[in-house]
Amino acid sequence: MATAEAKKPTTQIPDVKLLIGGQWKSSKAARWGEVFNPSRGKVIAKVPLCAADEIDAAVQAAAAALPKWAETPVVERTKVMFRLRELMVKHFDELAALVTREHGKTAPEARASVERGIEMVEFACGIPSLIMGQSLENIATNVDSETSRHPVGVCVGITPFNFPAMVPLWMFPVAITCGNTFVLKPSEKVPLSGVRLGELLMEAGLPPGVFNIVHGDKECVDALLTHPLVRAISFVGSTAVAKHVYETGTKHGKRVQAAGGAKNHLIIMPDADLNQAVKAIQASAFGCAGERCMAGSLAVPVGGIADSLVEGLVKAGSGMKVGPTDDGGAVDMGPVISSQHRDKVASYLDVAAKEGASVALDGRKRDLPADGFLLGPSVVDQVKPGMRLAKEEIFGPVLSVMRAKNLDEALAMGRDCEYGNGACIFTSSGHAAREFKRHFNAGMIGVNVGVPAPMAWFPFTGWNKSFFGDLHIQGTESIAFYTQQKMTLTRWFKSASEDTADPVWKTKR
Ligand code: NAD
Repeated sequence: MATAEAKKPTTQIPDVKLLIGGQWKSSKAARWGEVFNPSRGKVIAKVPLCAADEIDAAVQAAAAALPKWAETPVVERTKVMFRLRELMVKHFDELAALVTREHGKTAPEARASVERGIEMVEFACGIPSLIMGQSLENIATNVDSETSRHPVGVCVGITPFNFPAMVPLWMFPVAITCGNTFVLKPSEKVPLSGVRLGELLMEAGLPPGVFNIVHGDKECVDALLTHPLVRAISFVGSTAVAKHVYETGTKHGKRVQAAGGAKNHLIIMPDADLNQAVKAIQASAFGCAGERCMAGSLAVPVGGIADSLVEGLVKAGSGMKVGPTDDGGAVDMGPVISSQHRDKVASYLDVAAKEGASVALDGRKRDLPADGFLLGPSVVDQVKPGMRLAKEEIFGPVLSVMRAKNLDEALAMGRDCEYGNGACIFTSSGHAAREFKRHFNAGMIGVNVGVPAPMAWFPFTGWNKSFFGDLHIQGTESIAFYTQQKMTLTRWFKSASEDTADPVWKTKR
């Protein structure tokens, strides 16, 4: 974990640089953290935990670059995104390997996450069509009305550890192409991918100061949330921090979108194709070592399918090969992010036993290399509403099973959940799927799909404590978030003798 408050390193381990005003700089931070390769448990970089002075320098650089960038035609701004896309495709293998190195995802998972990120850049390449306003000629006699979209100003992105490249890419391509300037604060646990994206942006020809990078923890985030020149904040992370970011940011007059944690239910109806459902649930719960905000963490079998489902999940989980991911070996699941996180995730198996649930597959009982932050997949059966495993986000490879008598009971379990990111149903009944889709208490729904994460063109519509704000990340909502609208009424007189009374306010009633 990158929170050790060590002095600046004197060893060969490289320190992670800041990007301020187009210059890569060594930080003068007093506090430093460590970046690990979680496959091996080895420190690979030292990351500065910046204080307010360095945050101020980055925000000032973004503010200085703003007027010129905002005036640059959107078609020219978009060309930088086309070049970034080409560079990302060219460096695809390297980017995916970097995600694996600092996060631990398997190669297919890392590659898919970079692909999702490239799609955000592709979405941004279409912004000239999407940013257009509306107009209505002759809305009143000789009066035309139109709207136009304008940049908001300096925007900030604060991102979590679980998708080191993809989540920053949810934010800055749209923000920048809409004419804003940007300060990225990547997770201090995985800052290297964000830095590499910054290098590619510079190579793509982005003017200095339009995109800046700072590093740090709460102190750095709080300096960004309260900085007077920051106008908008995008955040992705845990619910407690999302709430803090939303409340502090809005209190300081900024617009904020803050995506939080999740507890995603997967409903399996008795008429589901069991084999397909098991495969999809296995991928959802144990893919990316369970460290996905869209991971299915609670399977809810309905009626008589429960025993065979649990049996299938235990078999699938025990068959998964777990190991280090950084050597290109063919493993199904890599490490979690840190030794502390592994211990926290594993501690839920003790909680389960204490609360009267039944550990059907124990991921601790695996012969795994001791140096990496590895843990096998676990399945906990007989979880009941109210237990901690039913309520809390574990964010690791632990799948809880909460049995329901019928669909209504499964829907009620959803209503009890304080999160509301995603939920899926596995069924062959169109009626059950429709009921579920209409009534489940979550913002992203999958029907016979295990991870209902929207692609770049659709919004990431978390509900309840999974999202704080009004306009979501991704899709056209993100363009609304990163722009402010202007409405113009225009009237041209035909002749000097024309009635000067305002035709909009002239009533015949
Ligand atoms: P986190 O909340 O610990 O950290 C997220 C960011 O906030 C980091 O940049 C971190 O430096 C900063 N931060 C941490 N503590 C802070 C504090 N007290 N004050 C101010 N800033 C602080 O989250 P994480 O552990 O990096 O990521 C995992 C979480 O992210 C999970 O809860 C997961 O569900 C969530 N997530 C949500 C989505 C979504 O779209 N809803 C997507 C990905 C991850």
